[in-house]
Amino acid sequence: MRKWKRTRRRRKERPAEIIRLELCDLCGATFAEGEAVQGFVPDSSAVSPGNDCWDGLRRITACGPAHFAALRENYRHRPFTQEELWAAKIDRALTEGPPVLSLLELGCRTGLHEPDIRRAIAWHNEHLPPRTDL
Ligand SMILES: [Zn+2]
Repeated sequence: MRKWKRTRRRRKERPAEIIRLELCDLCGATFAEGEAVQGFVPDSSAVSPGNDCWDGLRRITACGPAHFAALRENYRHRPFTQEELWAAKIDRALTEGPPVLSLLELGCRTGLHEPDIRRAIAWHNEHLPPRTDL
């Protein structure tokens, strides 16, 4: 007599659902990415790592509409300084990719002309944080 071997059906194991988390830029609360309230605000200190079109815009993330409105209001009062944006572009060029060897090359990488680069450097030097190690 032949015995039928009973096998347990194995359920296909589902991969665990990946939940991406976000942080509120105002209060630091953590929440699921889908619950985030996000948008862009003008900010001359913000440059995009990969796309010059987004330079001068900062993506803000909030836990809800009230904190989003508060963040947007904070940035509305922040001055937008062209030299600060140029300095951020220069910083990106100096810290990403192959080394920049000349002012001409820096101009090509940033899209800035030499007078703009000099104004950005002057702005940067005027806004250095005070040194505490002197
Ligand atoms: Zn919040």
